[in-house]
Amino acid sequence: MLKIFNSLTKKIEQFKTRENGIVNMYSCGPTVYYYPHIGNFRAYLFMDNIRRVLKYNGYKVNGVMNITDVGHLTSDADEGDDKMLVASKRENKSPWEIAKFYTNVFIEEAKKLNIDLPEYIVPATSVIEEMIEFVKTLIARGYAYETSKGIYFDIAKFSAYGALAGMDINEKLAGARIEVDSEKRSPYDFVLWVKAPKEHIMQWDSPWGKGYPGWHIECSVIGDKYLGEYIDLHTGGVDHKPVHHENEIAQSNCHYGHQVVNAWMHLEFLQIDGGKMSKSLGNLYTIADLETKGYSAEDFRFFYFLAHYSKQQNFTFDSLDMAKNTLKSIKNLAKEHKTGLAKVDTSSYEQDFLDSINDDLNMPKAIAVVQKMLKEERSQDVYSSLEKFNQVLGISLIDAEEIPQEIKELAEKRWQAKLNRDWTTADAVRVELTAKGYSIKDKKDGYEIIEN
Ligand code: AMP
Ligand code: ZN
Repeated sequence: MLKIFNSLTKKIEQFKTRENGIVNMYSCGPTVYYYPHIGNFRAYLFMDNIRRVLKYNGYKVNGVMNITDVGHLTSDADEGDDKMLVASKRENKSPWEIAKFYTNVFIEEAKKLNIDLPEYIVPATSVIEEMIEFVKTLIARGYAYETSKGIYFDIAKFSAYGALAGMDINEKLAGARIEVDSEKRSPYDFVLWVKAPKEHIMQWDSPWGKGYPGWHIECSVIGDKYLGEYIDLHTGGVDHKPVHHENEIAQSNCHYGHQVVNAWMHLEFLQIDGGKMSKSLGNLYTIADLETKGYSAEDFRFFYFLAHYSKQQNFTFDSLDMAKNTLKSIKNLAKEHKTGLAKVDTSSYEQDFLDSINDDLNMPKAIAVVQKMLKEERSQDVYSSLEKFNQVLGISLIDAEEIPQEIKELAEKRWQAKLNRDWTTADAVRVELTAKGYSIKDKKDGYEIIEN
C-alpha cells in the first residue's frame, strides 16, 4: 500500500486514484530559456522516482509535463521581462529558436539520467487557443476581470487561496507593500493574460487584443486538455507552492467549480556546499559539467537516492564521490550475483524494498535494503530481485563499459541508419552485430545492446 505526504492536506495519506489502477499525473516542467542545472534535475529525478514507484505498484501512469516557452517572467510573481525574451536578446536568436534548443538540451540530459519521461510533454505555446477559452470561462463566471494591462484573477473570489502554502492571505494583505498597479483589486490578483506592447515579440490575437499568457495558466490548461477535470497527483518543486501552484489551484478549481487535483507532492531544493546555487557564485553545475569532471549522469542519478525528496539535499563533490563509489560497489556485487550458484530466499528483501518505496518514497531506506541483500552469498536469486528493484532504480546493472567500443559504434551506426530510414544499412549492421555475438533491443527512444 503506497503512502505519500500530500502537501495540500499536509498529511501522510494512502495514495488513491479516481479510476482503478490508472494515475492521472501532472508535473511542472522546465522553462526552456537556459541550460538546466543539477537542482532542476533533482526535480525531474523526483518525478521519475514517483512514476517508477507507481508503476512498480502496478499502476498505469498517464503523465503530463508542460514546457514553459512563453510567459514566465523573471520573477514568479508577474514582474520583470519574459525569461524567453531575455534569452532571445542574450543569444540573438528568436524565442522559438531558444525554446527549441533548450527543450532539446533538457530532453537529451533527461535521457542520459534515464528519467522516465511523461507520456505527454506539452509546450505552452501549443495551447494558446485553449488558454484563451479557459480565461473566457473564468471571466464569464466572475472570477477574472480586465484592466488596461491584461486579464487578472480575482483572488477574493476564491476563499481557499493560500491553503496549499499555508498562507493567510488577509494577514499577508495587511502587511503588503503599496500596490503599484492601482487597477488591480488586490495586490495578489495575478495575471491570466497580458496585453502586449507592440514591440513584444511573442503575441497572439485574443478577444482582449494582442497579448500573451501569464505563466500559471498553462499548467491549468494543459492539465485540463490532457488529463481532464480530475488529476490524481501533481508534482513540482517547493518554490512553486506559494505562487505558481496556489494560482493553478485557484484557476482550475474555479473553472470547474470543484477541486481538480487530489494530491500534491513537492520536492525540496538541492543546495550546493550548504547554500544556494547561483550563477554569480559560479556553482551552477549542469550534467555536462559533472561529466567534464569525470562523473557520469548515472552517478548523479544515484546521488538523488541518498536523500529523502522532502528534505533539502546538499551537493558537494565529496558526497557525489560517495554516491559514485556506492554505485560502483553495487554494480560489482551485481556482477558477482549474476553467476552466483547459492540459493537465497529474497522474499523478505523484496518486502522491505516495497515497504520502503511505499513509505512516501523512502529511497535512502530502499538503497540500504539493496546493500544488505547484496551481502548475501552470491546467488542468481539475489540478482533477479535486484533486477526487479531496478525498475525503480533505473541504473545499468551491468556496465555498458563491458561492451566493446567497436560494438557500440556499430549499434549507433544502425540506430542512425534507422532514423534515416536506411533499412538496408540498418539490416546489414544488425547481421554484423549478430555475427559478433550481440543483439539490439529497440526501445521507444533509443536502444539497448544485449550480449547473446
Ligand atoms: P524552471 O526551469 O526555472 O521553471 O525550474 C524547473 C524546476 O526546477 C522547478 O520544478 C523548480 O522547482 C526546480 N528547481 C529549481 N532550482 C532547484 C533546486 N536548487 N533544487 C531542486 N529543484 C529546483
Ligand atoms: Zn506548473
